[in-house]
Amino acid sequence: MEQSTLGAPADTFIEHYERKIHSQKQLIELSKALNSTLDLRSLIEAILNVSIAQSRCLEAGIFLLPDVEHDVFIMDENAVGFDVKANHRLKIPYKSDLVRLLSEYPTLLTLSEIRNIAAATDHSSLAQVSFREALQELSQLHEELLLVPLKAKGRVNGILVMGPKSDGEVYLAEEKAFLSDLAALAAIAVENARLYELATVDMMTKLKIHHFFQTRLREEIEHARGSDEPLSMLLTDIDHFKKFNDTYGHQVGDIVLKEVAKILIASARGKDVAARYGGEEFALILPKRDIYAAKAIAETVRERIEKMEVENPTDKGDRLLKVTISIGVAEFDAKNDTDNKHLIERADQALYRAKDGGRNRVEIDI
Ligand code: GH3
Ligand code: MG
Ligand code: MG
Repeated sequence: MEQSTLGAPADTFIEHYERKIHSQKQLIELSKALNSTLDLRSLIEAILNVSIAQSRCLEAGIFLLPDVEHDVFIMDENAVGFDVKANHRLKIPYKSDLVRLLSEYPTLLTLSEIRNIAAATDHSSLAQVSFREALQELSQLHEELLLVPLKAKGRVNGILVMGPKSDGEVYLAEEKAFLSDLAALAAIAVENARLYELATVDMMTKLKIHHFFQTRLREEIEHARGSDEPLSMLLTDIDHFKKFNDTYGHQVGDIVLKEVAKILIASARGKDVAARYGGEEFALILPKRDIYAAKAIAETVRERIEKMEVENPTDKGDRLLKVTISIGVAEFDAKNDTDNKHLIERADQALYRAKDGGRNRVEIDI
């Protein structure tokens, strides 16, 4: 008798601490995973997977600021389970009452709790965007949600949105505590990935900057030298772009340049690097691809750009804008290439031949 009355609370006590230890282990694992990558997409995947597993819910998503120039949190494909309509981006402005509330409130809030707070304060809103708009946007996901702000350096840099738990129960205090800890780790990881992106990505085209290209090419050359795997690269240059700028103006030139960059970025897979080599010259590093595989990729890029039509925002000239590009392709040659320079030079020579041969062409170095 004595044992059972003493035993029950002791068991619960132990269970409680076992659960706590399990949560802490999960957080340590997550922390390792988050620290090992600066790639935002893998980070988001890890954050969503752990939060769903730990909370036993079926849906989760993350709102993030797309880049430093934007002050609107967006959720598009960064979600699991939620029925977000294709191409429909949910938006929450940074300068909204909702974000202010999430950044200041000491505990995590559910959508109904926020609705109650909003009902009491909406009329005296000081922020540029009232609660109503943000709440409407969130209700498209589900009637009830748990909102978990990601805070780094005292600033909200993302919002993790959790769907209802699969057992229909409310979130327990310890589950909320876990999600808060997870959000603190996630916020730092997102911040680091953002800073890394800021330091390595060309703001205008979203391509990697020249210095990053050289560094990664050096690494890939080292890798190719130490393995039997091939390595190739493309060097691209827009045809008669000076004339294009002269006709339509530099700003319209920039619009087209960004669209060309998008095609190059979309052609990059896995460890491929799409970079802005200089002005209107772009490059694509293609690990594990020999010259023929690289040539096929170059042909696809060239064709896609040839078919591309960009809406002319001005009333000068044609309504649909078109450009072509020339591409030089070269494969790393372990016997003769001593560094980046040799390989780039050979790609550049092939590019020169493509220009000389009439432009809108691909030439390979052989
Ligand atoms: P080619 O077919 O021989 O390449 O002719 P091209 O006129 O394109 O000649 P080239 O490649 O030497 O000239 C590059 C031009 O690209 C000159 C420059 O004004 C333009 N350009 C470079 N960077 C930018 C940019 O960021 N924005 C815009 N709009 N134009 C740029
Ligand atoms: Mg050029
Ligand atoms: Mg050019």
